[in-house]
This record gives sequence, C-alpha cells and structure tokens, in this order.
Amino acid sequence: MISVEEHRARVREVVGTRPVVRRPLADCAGLVLAEDLAAGVSLPPFDNSAMDGYAVRAADVADAREDAPVHLPVAADIPAGHVDVPALEPGTAHRIMTGAPLPEGADSVVMVERTDGGTERVAISTAVTPGLHVRRAGEDVTAGTIVLRSGTVLGPAHLGLAAAVGVDRLPVYAPPRVLVVSTGTELVHPPTPLRHGQIYESNSVMLVAGLTELGCEVEVVRSVADDVAHFRAAVEPRLTEVDLVVTSGGVSAGAYEVVKDSLTDTGVTFTKVAMQPGGPQGCGLWHGVPVVTLPGNPVSVLVSFEVFVRPALRAALGHRDADRPRVRARLTEALTPPKGKRQYRRGRYTPGTDGTTGVVAPQGGPGSHLLASLAQANCLIVLDGESTEVPEGSLVDVLLL
Ligand code: AMP
Ligand code: MG
Repeated sequence: MISVEEHRARVREVVGTRPVVRRPLADCAGLVLAEDLAAGVSLPPFDNSAMDGYAVRAADVADAREDAPVHLPVAADIPAGHVDVPALEPGTAHRIMTGAPLPEGADSVVMVERTDGGTERVAISTAVTPGLHVRRAGEDVTAGTIVLRSGTVLGPAHLGLAAAVGVDRLPVYAPPRVLVVSTGTELVHPPTPLRHGQIYESNSVMLVAGLTELGCEVEVVRSVADDVAHFRAAVEPRLTEVDLVVTSGGVSAGAYEVVKDSLTDTGVTFTKVAMQPGGPQGCGLWHGVPVVTLPGNPVSVLVSFEVFVRPALRAALGHRDADRPRVRARLTEALTPPKGKRQYRRGRYTPGTDGTTGVVAPQGGPGSHLLASLAQANCLIVLDGESTEVPEGSLVDVLLL
C-alpha cells in the first residue's frame, strides 16, 4: 500500500507538463499565460478626447461664462477614427468626439453640454483648465512595460488588455486532449430501461464535466464491457489522438477487472493507496500515452479525480495553485474513520462569520456508492487516519470544492 502523497507524485509525473502554444485570444480564457507580455504600444496610443465636445486652447475660452459665452469658429470636425487631424489655429475650435485624436495646438476639451453644439460657430459657456477632458498618451500603459505576468490565469480583463496592446495570440499551456473511458458490463444509458442487475452509467459524465472545467478537450468511450479484447479494441486505436487517458472501474480485486487485466505489463502500474474511498489506483504510460486508472464507485471516482487527476492537470497547465483551497473547520458530528488510511468524507461547509472558524457537516455515510450525498457536498473532509474517533467539535481539514 502506498500513501496518497506517493500516488499524487506518480500521477503528476505521468501527466507531466503541457507544451506552450500560441493560441488566438478567443481560445485562451481560463488558460495560464506562459510568458510575460510586454505592451507593444502605449495606451492610449495618442492624446485623445474623453468627451464629445470641442477641442480648444484653454486661453481662448478663459472669459467664457454661462451668461457671456465665447464664440469661436469651428474649423474642423474630428470623429473617432480620424487619422489626419489638422492642427488647431488660435482663436478656433474643432468639434471632436470621444476617443478622437486631440489636434496639435489644442490643450483641452469643452464638453458639448456646455456649448450650443454649433457646427459653423460654437458658443462656449465655460472656461476650462488646460488638460481638461484629455486622455494623455501612455497614461494607462507605456509601450514596453510588462502588462501581464507569466502565470496569470487569463480572464476577460486580461484578454481585453492583451487585445488593446495589439496582440492576437498568447503563449499558453496547451490544454490536453483527454480520453475518458468508463468500463462495466452492467452499465447502460438512457433511454434504455434498466434490467435487473444494470445501472445507468454516471462516471464518465462526472469526469467529462470535471475535465472540461479544467479546459481539457474531452472525448469519451462510454461503457466498455468487462472484456479485455473489447477494451483494447475500443481504446488502443485512439491513443494516437490523445494526451491522457482516464479510465473508471475494473481495477480492484474482483475477477473481471478489465482495466487491470488489459494494462498490466503495458507500463501501467496498479497499486493500493492508503485512502478511503479510492484505494485501488493505477497510472503509467501505455504506448507512451499517460493513463490514470480510477476505481469504479462514483464517490471513489470523484475523490480520486479531486485528489490525483485535477491537481496533476492543473500543475501541467501551469496553475500555481494546483490544489483546492484548504481550510480548518469544526465538525458538527462525530466521525469514526478507519485507522491507517486517509479518509475523505463528503461535507457541507459553512464559513464562520467575522473571522470565526467555519463548521462542516458530514453528508451521507462513508459508502463510496452514495451519489446523492455527493451532490449535496461542497467540500471533502480530510481525516488523517491517526485516530478512529473524531469527536463532534473537532477541528478538521476541509477541501473546498
Ligand atoms: P468496479 O471497480 O468496476 O468493480 O466498480 C465498482 C462499482 O462502481 C460497481 O458497483 C459498479 O457498478 C460501479 N460503477 C463502475 N463504473 C461505473 C460507472 N461508469 N457509472 C456508475 N457506476 C459505476
Ligand atoms: Mg466494473
């Protein structure tokens, strides 16, 4: 039997790191930036108007008042996007729109609301200070400065900034293509009615959801029968198309352990991990492709995914925080975990108010087939296997899902 940490390290090594690829911005959301990004242009790239109004010299409208407007000829019209802007002669105004380049010679903008809106001549009823309503070139970003750091998890604001400084692709850790394979002759899919002895397949759905959330491109081979020839025929030809295979079921100590029987002696090692649920585990390379074999019980699958697969993939994808956030919380009821194994129990965590410790209520029993309580849970309670009696009120570690 190996420890959880040992198997975590094995899975992480098998999964490895992802190569860096330059992806179009539209395909980068949620991925991790692999290099610092320096701005190729300043933001704004040029002095421009912050208002719809009139570009002026402040000195020309110094005497303007509500009851005594200053009248200036409108010498030019500058909509946004104008690239050939004439200079502003003294004693004139240019009608200017938000985002349009400030003409040379102008030092400020009078907002249209403080004018009569004239197109030939304009009556200006307020004085302005130099610089008013002008957005200066580089006041946001100076060309050459680092605007995004390597390791940034790219969200809408980061991608918007990258686009604004003229970038159309970013170097990110490439999400892997993952093949999910669920095994079990008892598994059927809707709308097939259940016959006695059959159940609806659910692990692949859970794994696809978890992997998709990580940004993986997921393919599925759903419900391979417990037959080595079937398993090999369904999976082996697809190894060339994927970067990782995750299987469920067929790895424990029974008689028809299809994954174990198919992959023993291929480079995949099967072990028992000192944890509950999720003891039977395996990982390795099959024809050079990383394979992680999870047990079959749905709770074991989710716990194994959380403890082994998700952190390994997040690390591979460049996330600095590969693990779920961990907090301490007070148990609302006593638990009796097994000795010598790390037990993960489903829990419902409620944060404390005003900095007090939160509480965690176990959901359902320890049975690894109990899916309903899994869906009620928002965390996993981690019990270290040192004590078989954990009284109500104890402080325990909690992984927030
Ligand atoms: P196994 O490890 O293959 O013996 O599976 C352990 C238990 O999990 C059995 O009760 C299976 O019926 C169940 N199981 C295995 N795979 C799935 C699946 N994909 N969906 C739902 N239940 C499953
Ligand atoms: Mg099975």
